[in-house]
Amino acid sequence: MPADQLALFGSGAPAKKRQPEIASDSATAARAVLREVFGYGDFRAGQSEAVAAFDAGRDAVVVLPTGGGKSMCYQVPAILRRKRGGGPTLVVSPLIALMNDQVAALSRAGVPAVAMHSGQPSEQWRELRDEAARATLIYASPERLQNEGFRRWLGHIGVAAAAVDEAHCISAWGHDFRPDYRSLDVLKRELKVPVIALTATATPQVMEEIGQTLGLVEPAVVVGDFARPNLSFSVELIQSDGARTERILELMRESGLKPGRPGRAIIYAATRKRVQALHDALRKAGLASGYYHAGRTDGARQSAAAAYESGKKPILVATTAFGMGVDHPDVRYVVHANAAGSVAGYYQEAGRAGRDGEPARCVLLYSSADAVTHARLRGKVPTAGALAGWKAMQDYIYGAGCRQQALVRYFTDRDGARCGGCDACVTPEVVREALDGARAEHSARMETKAAKRAQDAEYVVTDSQNDVVLAFVGALKKPLGKQLIAKGLRGSRAKDVKRKGLASNPSFGALADLPESVVLDTIEGLLNDGLLGRKGRKYPTVWLPDKPVRRAAPAGAAPKREKKGLQAALEKYRSREARKRGWKPYQVFDNKTLSRICRAQPQDDADLLAIDGIGPKRVEAFGPTILELVAEHAKPRG
Ligand code: ADP
Ligand code: ZN
Repeated sequence: MPADQLALFGSGAPAKKRQPEIASDSATAARAVLREVFGYGDFRAGQSEAVAAFDAGRDAVVVLPTGGGKSMCYQVPAILRRKRGGGPTLVVSPLIALMNDQVAALSRAGVPAVAMHSGQPSEQWRELRDEAARATLIYASPERLQNEGFRRWLGHIGVAAAAVDEAHCISAWGHDFRPDYRSLDVLKRELKVPVIALTATATPQVMEEIGQTLGLVEPAVVVGDFARPNLSFSVELIQSDGARTERILELMRESGLKPGRPGRAIIYAATRKRVQALHDALRKAGLASGYYHAGRTDGARQSAAAAYESGKKPILVATTAFGMGVDHPDVRYVVHANAAGSVAGYYQEAGRAGRDGEPARCVLLYSSADAVTHARLRGKVPTAGALAGWKAMQDYIYGAGCRQQALVRYFTDRDGARCGGCDACVTPEVVREALDGARAEHSARMETKAAKRAQDAEYVVTDSQNDVVLAFVGALKKPLGKQLIAKGLRGSRAKDVKRKGLASNPSFGALADLPESVVLDTIEGLLNDGLLGRKGRKYPTVWLPDKPVRRAAPAGAAPKREKKGLQAALEKYRSREARKRGWKPYQVFDNKTLSRICRAQPQDDADLLAIDGIGPKRVEAFGPTILELVAEHAKPRG
């Protein structure tokens, strides 16, 4: 058991030795709780250290990968505390959905637990408080902790310890920053209880920030093992969506996954449109796939998840909306058809492969159009954290070293061993060659001064740029290939440009100072996001998604109308909410936020949180309806 397993785990700051005989007593008690209450044979590596420290009354910072079993680190000590006659343990958690999941799981295990958050009507509070005072665990949102009365009440009922879940939300540099997390120092200052902070993503700097912000005293530091030796990671640089689809078909054919047999695959795509397109291609190729995204009805999503679960359709194409709390041990492939938005997101999604410890592959396909897509998804004013996460994703993609090492280093700042199984370990020449090719292409692009300016634009495609492209396409009389559209936008004098009469387009030459590749990327990004559509099979041309061909319409009219549906619906919803609360409409969300929602087309809570002007409070209060409205007004396909 643990002794040698624990050697895997560098427990950062050496834990001060405490009386060993007491420690082993409580270790036995902890193991008994784990077995009797949760039915698990033994602690996983990392858990026992965390439990021992927290149960002994020490502060602790725990970093375990997603699925590593962070909840046991505070749930077992909470039960032990109650058994010894101590008060409830408070758990600060950022999302109502997560709280509810945990409370439900604990209730099934017979552990009294209560969630307290702003989503509950105030008439319920008195009852909840009575229940909470008797509970073993009280889950509360960080917003709730801002309330002094609530904190006084927690002290009054004798809360004995506190856990801060998803503690990286403290860091202003992290990808999930929540301002309310920064005032959680009240746990130590006012409640004066042992505090355990848990997260799946923390570099040593962030861990330091967590410790300092919470005011932890000599915390025990437990850092889990992020290496996944049975996973082989690889990155493939790809030129076009067509090539992406081909490669995915090839991977799925050679996977040998069959309905009703063990083994599954998840294919993540960045947009719903790509999810749909990939699913169609797989189905046409006779592969048993289903698809999942937040834009489908509850019923359709559930039946897709069920067919995947039962093994009837072992391939699932999905946006990142799929995965939270889904844990199938026999996932053999996680393919990213597009780069993820951040390394943390990538590791979380890819990490769903090979949970059974058997070999599995994590393949990421990347083209520079992904940068444009993610720039759009991040919105006009992205947070520093979102940009840093994307930069790290690019570093991973353009790295030539062992992929596992790169990931482990990102999460722990420690150099693990080379994995020996990733593309950089197995075929280093191939990886280097691909990178050299990409670099050569990149530097050729960067040679001119205009291209230098576009280098910045590669990460920040401006909306005006997108609008110019939409206006240009809107003013076309017929669908046109994207090469020709790019030429027209750049004001080319080529013969075919003249023949098609593009020079009379009001937006002719409007992007003259951008290199062709950037203009093409912009068009590709709009296609990926469904703001532009494709016509024709053999010679694919570009057109506005809803505009009938041949009926001339005024420039840019169609996309405006498209936006209006969602915009009008959001405005109506906003007034309704404002009236209900006696607020001014802008207090619900202002016009800028509203147009950001229209642009970003969020698919889940995480997408919403990435939008400037929407914090966790708004996600809790308005998120479900906003997501529904976005889904209702989702752009029709093709
Ligand atoms: P995290 O919060 O770190 O992502 P969870 O706490 O949700 O992970 O746990 C992930 C899964 O592992 C859950 O299904 C949980 O029940 C299971 N688990 C946790 N600890 C153990 C253990 N010691 N043995 C077996 N399964 C465990
Ligand atoms: Zn490697």
